Amino acid sequence: MTSLREEDGHETARKEKCTAPARMPWVSPQNCEGCGQCVNRCPRGILSMTETNVADVYVPWMKQVDKCLGCGLCADACVMGGIVMTAYVEMAKKRFLTKRPTVYQD
Ligand code: SF4
Ligand code: SF4
Repeated sequence: MTSLREEDGHETARKEKCTAPARMPWVSPQNCEGCGQCVNRCPRGILSMTETNVADVYVPWMKQVDKCLGCGLCADACVMGGIVMTAYVEMAKKRFLTKRPTVYQD
């Protein structure tokens, strides 16, 4: 049986090993108005306005996904719901890296 002190030590060691963010931004191009506030707020400078499938329509997107802190400042900056935080970190990373931002038109 482990003591409480040992369990605390294991938990601390586990947290120290875990450096991946618990959350990642998820962009909803449909909701984005292109103001750029989220880009300005990112302390890592990894968001950039990126052209969608529609000419001259830009939304935030990122390529340097491993630099994201998961801090959520970008999502906090958005009043439109154009960028929110998700716990599906790997899915969000893959989407940024493999997809082009897409706006669906009627
Ligand atoms: S996601 Fe929100 S804050 Fe970022 S550019 Fe779009 S509307 Fe502006
Ligand atoms: S979660 Fe933080 S580090 Fe990641 S893109 Fe948003 S503002 Fe930048």
